[in-house]
Amino acid sequence: MTLLRLGEASWTDVRDHVDAGGTLAFLPFGALEQHGPHLPLSTDTLQCTAIAERLAEHYSALLLPPVCYGSTWDNAAFPGTVSLKPSTVAALCTDIVEAVWSFGVTTLVVVNGDYGNRAPVHAAAAALGGAGDVLVLDYPGLVEVGDAVKESPWAAPGLCHADELETSMVLAIEPSLVRPERYEAAYPQLPADFGTRPIPFDTLSPSGVFGDPRASTAEKGETIISFVVARSIEQIDSHRGWASGDRRHDPSV
Ligand SMILES: [Zn+2]
Repeated sequence: MTLLRLGEASWTDVRDHVDAGGTLAFLPFGALEQHGPHLPLSTDTLQCTAIAERLAEHYSALLLPPVCYGSTWDNAAFPGTVSLKPSTVAALCTDIVEAVWSFGVTTLVVVNGDYGNRAPVHAAAAALGGAGDVLVLDYPGLVEVGDAVKESPWAAPGLCHADELETSMVLAIEPSLVRPERYEAAYPQLPADFGTRPIPFDTLSPSGVFGDPRASTAEKGETIISFVVARSIEQIDSHRGWASGDRRHDPSV
């Protein structure tokens, strides 16, 4: 059994893959969101797709085409950003999970690439149950590996947006889409309640950058992606052990 890309497979390929025991699937959930003047709007989609691809490769699993839109209201003032309502993101997630469960997938792993998707995707996953299993990953290990490779400071603890970390990842994935001649650093003054209420990002950073992309390299990007993939595998293995084992006795189920 090998990785099977649903967008390129026929229905009989999927049936045969599932019949052979391939019941694990990956869904990259991205966004179409501004990432400064130097990165493409598809940055989050590129990143989560690359990570989901490596995971699907590792497990010889099914790989769904990415969701290329997400909830990114705070970037909506930047031309090109297309934001879905959180309820739309939750509904998309629910419908996709139920559809893949219906043809035999038992575990769907959502590889989430956008901060604004977190709440609705986790809420959708929590509300689903019964027929199958869903696991949502939000780039485990990203802050840890970011601390290890970044030469520039974070714009805020754990906040990376069009900075050295994200730019390095796109350099590793699709370097032709990065415009180094447009690199600029931005360290906006963030209000004390940042993260607790909706704030339009253009009022904080007119360029849309939060951090400093100038020290970005493809090598750093590769290190970041490999680390997140390794941490994701740990989480998936642990989750699958729980899901196939003594789940009945878990008081939370
Ligand atoms: Zn991003």
